[in-house]
Amino acid sequence: MNILVLNCGSSSLKFQIIATDLERIERNADRRLAEGHIERIGGAALISFTAEGRATERSAAPVRDVRAALETVLRWISESDAVEGISSLADIQAIGHRVVHGGEKFKESVIITDEVLRGIEDCIELAPLHNPANIKGITAAREIFGKNVPQAAVFDTAFHQTLPEKSYLYAIPYQFYRRHKIRRYGFHGTSHRYIAYRYRTINNIPRENVNIITLHLGNGCSIAAIKNGNSVDTSMGLTPLEGLVMGTRSGDLDPAIIEFVSGKEGLNVHEVESLLNKQSGLLGISGLTNDMRELIAEAEESGDRRARLAIEIFCYRIRKYIGSYLAAMNGADAIIFAGGIGENSAKIRTLVCQEMNWLGVELDEEKNRTHENGCESVISADSSKVKIGVIPTNEELLIARDTVRLINQK
Ligand code: ADP
Repeated sequence: MNILVLNCGSSSLKFQIIATDLERIERNADRRLAEGHIERIGGAALISFTAEGRATERSAAPVRDVRAALETVLRWISESDAVEGISSLADIQAIGHRVVHGGEKFKESVIITDEVLRGIEDCIELAPLHNPANIKGITAAREIFGKNVPQAAVFDTAFHQTLPEKSYLYAIPYQFYRRHKIRRYGFHGTSHRYIAYRYRTINNIPRENVNIITLHLGNGCSIAAIKNGNSVDTSMGLTPLEGLVMGTRSGDLDPAIIEFVSGKEGLNVHEVESLLNKQSGLLGISGLTNDMRELIAEAEESGDRRARLAIEIFCYRIRKYIGSYLAAMNGADAIIFAGGIGENSAKIRTLVCQEMNWLGVELDEEKNRTHENGCESVISADSSKVKIGVIPTNEELLIARDTVRLINQK
């Protein structure tokens, strides 16, 4: 089956076409036939499409909205003979959508029905920036493909629905949870779940024996404590703002800072929240960039003090979280790095893992340095009590596989 995987944001659309079925899943032999993205939707958009084994095609064109973006993608898929095995839209058998917020309603992936769509709409108040764009993508795809092409929703929050109350409740008046559903939901769930799945497959162990800490370090960053195969704690909260230091997000801070900054800088609450989401984190500390690769280059080549500081604070926060999760879980078998930074930066992995030997976490510098990007590997010392590994994440693959499994369950 060819599955179209869609990730629709407010101003961007990312897609992949993945050929997979139950037998291919079993053999881990799924194939990515094409991928691409459209950015700056709503204006002069930047378009980038790549079919397997071919050079990337880049262009710019006005793209009005999510529906127009999807039509642009589908025109390319069906008109160019670039994508192997696909000559028209009829060659796409199902669609899998990434949906950011599933609230407490969606504990796993589901086939999209009118009722499911209403449920996703109900979660808009929890993710006002994300869910509306996801819904637009789903609605456009249903209109274009008709109801005979099954579509699935895979939620960023679903994997963390196993969190116990003690991890998901905030210490604020309980009625705010009851009335407004204010609690920790956690995000990047599809990524943490994929890493846990690969970990148990590589080690050939049952799901309930997976006791690991997973680090998704990309532009957004989060850490999850996975015990007996289930997520039992994670750093992002009601929104993706909480937890680790990220590209432009502050992560944890004293909530009193919001009013303080508001008073000192003459900003309203929305403006302060926007500042914490878009101008903080690595960008805020360094004053230079939210891009870790650039930051490392600045720190190493020009010795920029604030670039160094941003990196130091970023890694220190991760170490504190690892320590607290090791305590909360009564130890873990492994710490796994993933995401653009986690997968590609040996330097960050070194800085995160340093001075944790008391906890039984010891990196093998040579293995870390020679780890080949894109591969799965163990980078801890043989003597390390807690294994350290790198597993490249693949959320799109999991979305495609969930879609196939759901169709086969029907
Ligand atoms: P997103 O969260 O948008 O999916 P990615 O997972 O692609 O983002 O991660 C993007 C981050 O990964 C950026 O900060 C980028 O600089 C960083 N990154 C990618 N490659 C490297 C590298 N070799 N060294 C350090 N950082 C890297």
